[in-house]
Amino acid sequence: ILRGKTALVTGSTSGIGLGIARALAEQGANIVFNGFGDAQQIEKLYTDIGQEFGVRTAYHNADMSRPDQIEAMMAFASDKFGGVDILVNNAGIQHVAKVEDFPAEKWDAILAINLTSAFHTSRLALPGMQRKNWGRIINLASVHGLVGSAGKSAYVAAKHGLVGFTKVTALENAHTGVTCNAICPGWVLTPLVQKQVDDRAARDGMSNEQAKKALLSEKQPSGEFVTPEELGALAVFFCSPAADQVRGVAWNMDGGWAAQ
Ligand code: NAD
Repeated sequence: ILRGKTALVTGSTSGIGLGIARALAEQGANIVFNGFGDAQQIEKLYTDIGQEFGVRTAYHNADMSRPDQIEAMMAFASDKFGGVDILVNNAGIQHVAKVEDFPAEKWDAILAINLTSAFHTSRLALPGMQRKNWGRIINLASVHGLVGSAGKSAYVAAKHGLVGFTKVTALENAHTGVTCNAICPGWVLTPLVQKQVDDRAARDGMSNEQAKKALLSEKQPSGEFVTPEELGALAVFFCSPAADQVRGVAWNMDGGWAAQ
């Protein structure tokens, strides 16, 4: 359903972003990848996905904390594919510490990458989408865009901000074919969460499996991780004609976390 469209997915070299990029490629979209990692592995990743689904793929290494690099990435997408029809703001980082212990530079980095980067990509992508009268902006917020958890002040602030930004972007474009929505996952077992599993295992002298169960049982009633594939399917739905009137939602896929 997305043949001929171009999707740019920030932070798509790993985890959820990679799952969403794959799902959009499966529907025929060309993909601009972004994110950090080993250069050779990244080249293999985007070449393989291009071949598997018969779509065009490219990669830009912009750091989402740097507005100048974001501008270069958006210009690259325009040169390569004539613009961005589907923008997935997914790049994100985490740091866990109490407010009084939170390193100020970590706060700034989390706000820049998890929130401000979405402003820069959106402001640069919107004029092209408005010209075509079709566009999709999908912001990867989190269940932490809806509720808080101790130790995650910067992350929760950024994700609540991203949900607010989603609503305003949706409203400003409500009379057009451009929609903007947020996805709010609960625990997904990606490198970002594995680090929290490792910290928990070290702190409480648990095995990896016990630490995973402990994290899930505290917050996620299903007791199961959400998967990047499930989140990819939700992103595809937001891009489908059935979602033309889904605007400004913060849609949780969280195993029941926020229902409590
Ligand atoms: P991940 O660590 O697996 O992937 C993060 C991606 O972002 C990687 O590709 C990484 O290279 C990229 N990235 C990090 N800093 C960057 C920067 N400065 N510039 C460009 N790219 C950068 O993490 P994930 O779990 O897949 O997280 C993806 C998004 O989903 C994040 O916004 C995260 O907050 C959100 N999220 C994750 C979970 C979860 O449980 N894993 C839950 C809710 C929301």
